[in-house]
Amino acid sequence: MYRIINVSLKGRTGLYQLTIDRDKIYKIEPWDGSDGEIDGGGMLLTESFVVPHVHIDKVETGPLVEKATMNVYQMGTGARDAIKAAAEVKKGYDEDKIYARVKQRMLEALKYGVTYVRGFVDVDTAAGLKGFAGAIRVRDEIKEFMQLQVVAFPQQGLLLDPGAIELVEEAVKKGADVVGGIPWIEENEHDQLKHINQVLDIARKYSKPAAFLVDDAPNPALKTLEMLADETLEMGMQGKVEACHARALQLYNESNLNKVLNKVKLAGISLVTNPHTGAYHLPVEKALAHGINVSLGQDDCNDAYYPYGRCNMLEVGFLATHLLWSMDEAGRERIFDMITVRAAKSIGIENHKVKEGSRSDLVVLNEPNLREAFRYHREPRLVLYGGRPVATGT
Ligand SMILES: [Zn+2]
Repeated sequence: MYRIINVSLKGRTGLYQLTIDRDKIYKIEPWDGSDGEIDGGGMLLTESFVVPHVHIDKVETGPLVEKATMNVYQMGTGARDAIKAAAEVKKGYDEDKIYARVKQRMLEALKYGVTYVRGFVDVDTAAGLKGFAGAIRVRDEIKEFMQLQVVAFPQQGLLLDPGAIELVEEAVKKGADVVGGIPWIEENEHDQLKHINQVLDIARKYSKPAAFLVDDAPNPALKTLEMLADETLEMGMQGKVEACHARALQLYNESNLNKVLNKVKLAGISLVTNPHTGAYHLPVEKALAHGINVSLGQDDCNDAYYPYGRCNMLEVGFLATHLLWSMDEAGRERIFDMITVRAAKSIGIENHKVKEGSRSDLVVLNEPNLREAFRYHREPRLVLYGGRPVATGT
């Protein structure tokens, strides 16, 4: 048992002390001025950060393919073409190189206070299981410090890429944590529906959650999120499905948008948006108003689709406060929940909250409040995973 003294907490005035018992928060009380093992210096203590969506096998590959892909993806004019062009990079895939890139990125994420990551890895006929094998090695090596969930993700489609579904199933048998899908890139609605069903079938067969990229282009005719909600309900998989991107929803008319969001809520699907990676994004306020769990993803770290990104979720949140016009106090709190509590829920981590009895996955920031934390988006001074200090800032 030990104590963290002299910290601020969100939404409360004054200074607090926390007693940590093994991996749990045992007690939270006003600081009585006494000494403790860790002195927070009056700074903000919060839940640790969570990345609910990032393409980890592609980190640091950006300069190899940037010219062919970046603009077409971001403006949405040819997102399908961008994905085809970006696949070039996979011809040179090498397990050891991917292992090294993923490991470096995850260790840096930890420095930024991230203790949970859902990492999507291309598993298809171009990449085979090379990226997957590299990511699994990292996951197992870092498990004492943070949790990396590996998603077996068929980036080039299933009907468009014969053989990919068998590779996805093989990856699941070899220990993938999540079954991935990308139905919107299939050529027609019939194939899109088939794609969704194939992914959900494997998820159900192996009792895994499923994570999809849906409607990732500014085309209001795309409706794979709606199909996914229908099928999730049909197969009784409520609460086990995450859907990322959904950029097309920005162009839906009001009644169609409400219809789809109602279905998403019923199906218990969590949505992940990445407004920093393109000109269009999910209507976040609307989705939240429907009671849907919405969070912010990193999506990319220096790859074909986005040139920056460090898995620093305060940086992602800083950008989102602009892009979603959420710079007042309530807006900042909403955005902060989307990179902590809500992001955790999206990947199946419940009760990720600073409260007595919760697991102590925590950060002590270098700032006393959210306003300053977003302003500087620096690394925390301390990161705790299951009550153990796993990173200290500069
Ligand atoms: Zn993505």
